Formats: sequence, structure tokens, C-alpha cells
Amino acid sequence: MFSKFKRWREQRILAKSQITLQEWQQVKSEIPVLDRLNENDQNKLFTLATLFLHNKDISGAHGFEITETVRQSIALQACLPILNLNLDWYSGWSSVIVYPAGFSRETSEVDEFGVTHTKHSHRSGEAWLRGPVILSWKDTEHAGVRDGHNVVIHEFVHKLDMLNGRANGFPPMQKGMNQGTWSKLMSNAFEDFQVNPKQGIDRYGATNPAEFFAVLSEVFFETPDLLFEAYPDLYELMTKFFLQSPLAPQS
Ligand SMILES: [Zn+2]
Repeated sequence: MFSKFKRWREQRILAKSQITLQEWQQVKSEIPVLDRLNENDQNKLFTLATLFLHNKDISGAHGFEITETVRQSIALQACLPILNLNLDWYSGWSSVIVYPAGFSRETSEVDEFGVTHTKHSHRSGEAWLRGPVILSWKDTEHAGVRDGHNVVIHEFVHKLDMLNGRANGFPPMQKGMNQGTWSKLMSNAFEDFQVNPKQGIDRYGATNPAEFFAVLSEVFFETPDLLFEAYPDLYELMTKFFLQSPLAPQS
């Protein structure tokens, strides 16, 4: 009964949407990482993105103006990882905040002598537990160029990871997936990555298991051949998690 109501509600949202198919196609054409999707998948992505925009509030910070193109570009890239999952994977939070460009954060650390050190770090995005996703538009605008870097995929994969608590590189598994296999393959590869950098995989992934998962996801969607070359077993594992195979020829 509940899912029937949910479907009815979604149909109403879709029917009321002002965004035309041509508009979606126009914005999609500026995001090369979406080129591999066949027509069926494209339409599925447009539907998900429409529902995403209904569910999430996208607002600008530091004077950044949110246009329809900005909203649609973020929605399309954010929905790529959940193309074959569903919007429930982005539940429990409601807003996306967009800065015009990268922003800095002040973090404090106490060293072994009890002295507090304040660090300024430059960020292109952030995902807060049960809070917003924050993006820099400068980094988001050209994120989908298939270079293995995509701040939108990165931050939204943190959100998938946070569905079962703090981001730790261990998201909820799909039905039939084995948690032990995930842990073992991810930990082995993470350990290897600490000492053996891989071509096309950002060294930032060596920071911790949560960043490793987010960075690998960027590569999985943008340059899957490089992930397959570096860690074929992780590529296979991620096809089981995302229920997508970016390397497969599209029909
Ligand atoms: Zn991250």
C-alpha cells in the first residue's frame, strides 16, 4: 500500500515538473560522463533528477546565484551513482549548498604535547553526516569531463556511506552482497594503495577508507578502465554495489 502511494506521489511530482526533456538533454550534453548512458538509462536519470530536485533544497552561498542549469547539472551528476538504486539512498538530509568556488575550512588538532594547531584547508566539496552536501560550482561545473575526478560523485558517495553512520568506507550492502568480502577486498586494496600509487587514482584516497571509497567511485564512473586495471576485483565489487557496469558496451 505504501509503495503504491509513493508511486502515485512520484507520478504527480513528475507530471508537475516544468523541466522539459529538451532541457534535460541540453544540460546532460554538457556532462560527458553521462554519454555512455543509453536512452532508457538517460530517461531513468531524468526521472530520478526531477524527484531529487523536488526533495532537496539547493541554495547558493557567498552570493552564488542558483540557476536552473546549476540545479539540473547537480541533480544529474548526483543521481548517476543511484541510477539503479533509488532516492531512498539519499534520505535523512535535505539540502545542497553551492559556493561560487572552492572554500576554506579551519580545523584544529591537538598534538602530543597538548598544543592546538589550527589548519586552513582548501575544499571543493563536503558532505556532513545528516547535514548538507556542500559543493564549489567552479569544481562542479566541469566535474563530468571523464578525467577521474568528480566532486559531485565524491560527496554523494560519502552520503551513501553515511547511510549507516559516519563515513568509513563501508556503506549498507546490496541484497546478496557479502560484508566480509567488501571489508576484505577494500582493506587489502587500501593497504596496497598506501604504498603503491595507481595511475589515474587520486592520492587523496590514501587519507582513510572513507576517502578511498569516494575516490574509487569517481574513477569507477569516470575512467572505469583505470580502476579495472588497478583493482579488477574492486571494479567487480563496485558493479555489485552500484548495480552498474560502466565498462560494459551500451545497447
Ligand atoms: Zn571526501
